[in-house]
Amino acid sequence: MDECLDYFRKAIADPQSVPPWSEWWAANADLVERTFPLVDYVRLKHRKLLGARQILQYRGEFPEDYEPRSAFVTGSCGQCGERVEIVGGTHVICPVCGGTEERHVGKPAGGPGA
Ligand SMILES: [Zn+2]
Repeated sequence: MDECLDYFRKAIADPQSVPPWSEWWAANADLVERTFPLVDYVRLKHRKLLGARQILQYRGEFPEDYEPRSAFVTGSCGQCGERVEIVGGTHVICPVCGGTEERHVGKPAGGPGA
């Protein structure tokens, strides 16, 4: 279980340091099913990285109001953990879950006060 939690932490805080969620899940779904309670396995299967973040929040490792870093900065979707496409320099689109993020001109994306 610890190696799974370690992946979750990195995938949330520094997504480029680990493989995207789909690759990790394909290799580790069996391990997750064996080592996590069923409710958490189902949560991870359906919510992906968002589910992983919720598990770490329940454990007190991330604050309840934690917001993932901007996909403009990480190049990775904060919801499902897949790599995103940056379109026109102003929009991020996740090809897997369809999540989008817009960069507001004049403010640093994801920075303090954004
Ligand atoms: Zn996504």
